[in-house]
Amino acid sequence: MDKRAAPVRHGQVKAASSPESSPEGTSETPRVPSVPSVRVLIVGGGYVGLYTALRLQKKLKPELKRGEVEIVVVTPEPYMTYQPFLPEAAAGNISPRHVVVPLRRVLDRCKVVIGEVRKIDHGKHTATLTTLATEEEGTGPVELSYDELVLAPGSISRTLPIPGLADHAIGFKTVEEAIGLRNHVLEQLDIASSTRDPAVRDAALTFVFVGGGYAGVEALAELEDMARYATRYYHNLRAEDMKWMLVEASDRILPEVGESMGRYTIRELRGRNIDVRLRTRLDSCEGRVAVLSDGGRFPARTLVWTAGVKPHPVLAATDLPLDERGRLKCTPKLTIDGTTRAWAAGDAAAIPDLTADEDGEDGKGGEDSKGGRGGKECAPNAQHAVRQAKTLGDNIVASLHGKPLKDYAHSYAGSVASLGLHKGVAHVYGRKLKGYPAWFMHRVYHLSRVPTFNRKARVLAEWTLSGLFKREIVSLGSLEHPRAEFELAAGGARPKDPKGSN
Ligand SMILES: Cc1cc2nc3c(=O)[nH]c(=O)nc-3n(C[C@H](O)[C@H](O)[C@H](O)COP(=O)(O)OP(=O)(O)OC[C@H]3O[C@@H](n4cnc5c(N)ncnc54)[C@H](O)[C@@H]3O)c2cc1C
Repeated sequence: MDKRAAPVRHGQVKAASSPESSPEGTSETPRVPSVPSVRVLIVGGGYVGLYTALRLQKKLKPELKRGEVEIVVVTPEPYMTYQPFLPEAAAGNISPRHVVVPLRRVLDRCKVVIGEVRKIDHGKHTATLTTLATEEEGTGPVELSYDELVLAPGSISRTLPIPGLADHAIGFKTVEEAIGLRNHVLEQLDIASSTRDPAVRDAALTFVFVGGGYAGVEALAELEDMARYATRYYHNLRAEDMKWMLVEASDRILPEVGESMGRYTIRELRGRNIDVRLRTRLDSCEGRVAVLSDGGRFPARTLVWTAGVKPHPVLAATDLPLDERGRLKCTPKLTIDGTTRAWAAGDAAAIPDLTADEDGEDGKGGEDSKGGRGGKECAPNAQHAVRQAKTLGDNIVASLHGKPLKDYAHSYAGSVASLGLHKGVAHVYGRKLKGYPAWFMHRVYHLSRVPTFNRKARVLAEWTLSGLFKREIVSLGSLEHPRAEFELAAGGARPKDPKGSN
């Protein structure tokens, strides 16, 4: 290790409010008192966080063993979510716990702290965070010092000030949202089947998705496919009674698979009676009535908002440089512009796309103006996040060893998307596939990508079993309220709308 690796702050953890408190797993008993240590703080346990930590714990094994290096991962959940599997989880093809990767098990040489970073003062090399314990104890946030910072909090849904949106819509970024939505859709079929009020039935059977990127299109296509199948078990519902709608502000959908495959997807969805409305915006959803810019008005009990993402707001609570879209300004070496010992990647980072000029044209399996090869920065997707994390990990190791850093450069390989069971669309390395071959490719690709052999085996087993047996169509929405039955038994009132407003 070079001199930079001999840090000044040997992992001080001091409470912002009280000197005693320290976050879980960062207690300050001197590890190897005579040996100085480097603390690498990784903010976020998603794609970038997980893969960077994996890389570091592999490449810094001897240093970790000798106590010269400590890797701390701070993340709100103890798992990484494999987001491309969320639509399949919503459709019931994969169990929710197989869509996530347990961080403590795979990052066995790192310290995983379940908490949220609230502020970063890179000038002082400190992060302010809250943990489950600080919330429980009411002690206020704690400060954690670091030597190297990896900032990867990802993105959140990009919403607009549309009346009713915050009250009635749901996003599609987390496993909780995916499973909540599955339960909700199945519950709407139960409502529609049991009501005598035609207005309630219509609203229950109307499902509006806003945003035609892969999250929106895949979620809609998978859920529609699942609900269509489920209707065969209802004596008074037919698939044709449902109204599924995709609202997209631009003139195309699924830009990730290129223009012609996007057009194919529209035809495929319309062939299934899904109402795809391009150049249309959602103007309001007050009172659970979706009002569209083309004049359409649809009472709907389901409104899914997948109209893009924006960088995580915690970035604004740092002294690090942001671009006009609120992402961290980064160099191709994945350092944060104008700083030392601060690194970033993934959805939260604006990283120059060094391959953009090579073959930036859309329609060759590439991305579009949303930031893909046609743009000047890498698109916010898993393909880049995983590869960036690898380079980032290598560059931190190189920096600690006083070696030169490498540039990140990866040409977008294209995308695969599932449109329901046995249906899909793909545009990878210039090859266009549709229907069953694309769906099969989607499964093979993601099976090869989902982290850990354990998860691969479990997902494969589930797919195999679901090929042999009938699909699961049960709604387990009551799982979200495990105390409801007991509260009723104990004399409380049954909640009016236990599932909330959506
Ligand atoms: C439904 C869906 C389908 C997708 N399908 C594809 C696909 O098929 N192909 C593809 O390439 N991409 C796909 N993506 C995009 C891809 O998942 C993201 O680009 C990728 O997850 C970005 O990685 P990341 O590490 O930057 O962020 P994330 O993976 O989102 O990780 C961010 C992490 O930071 C944590 N965090 C947030 N705030 C804090 C804080 N204050 N303190 C500590 N931790 C914090 C979060 O909880 C999370 O664990 C899909 C996304 C969605 C939503």
